[in-house]
Amino acid sequence: MSVQTYAGSCHCGNVKFEADIDLSAGTGKCNCSFCSKTRNWSATIKPEAFRLLSDADATIDYQFNTQSTHWPFCKTCGGRPYGEGDIPEAGGKFVTLSVTGLDGLTAQQLADLPVRYCNGRDNDWWHEVSDVEKRYL
Ligand SMILES: [Zn+2]
Repeated sequence: MSVQTYAGSCHCGNVKFEADIDLSAGTGKCNCSFCSKTRNWSATIKPEAFRLLSDADATIDYQFNTQSTHWPFCKTCGGRPYGEGDIPEAGGKFVTLSVTGLDGLTAQQLADLPVRYCNGRDNDWWHEVSDVEKRYL
């Protein structure tokens, strides 16, 4: 386990944050409607490990379905480097970071990250998707 502090941002830089993450603990991809449309690749942390450094007014909130998660996106570039939610069944409050929104990771570091593939489409979060789905998520 190795928690490190990463800077993160949207494409234009109007949304900025810092987060303490152990990326070796795993990242996630998912086949739910949101993740597959946005090609979401996430790392999830507790809210105490997240510090938004930019003005919340730089974003527009987006929620869907059960409204359990906020997916703010940048008003300027549309980038969506983080989300926040509260799902008691999954451990309570959390912040989900877009792995590709983290600054400074090399191609090799990204390629080496462990990835868990969740079957969110079928609300079957604890089982992995098929090998075919893993190839395009
Ligand atoms: Zn932006």
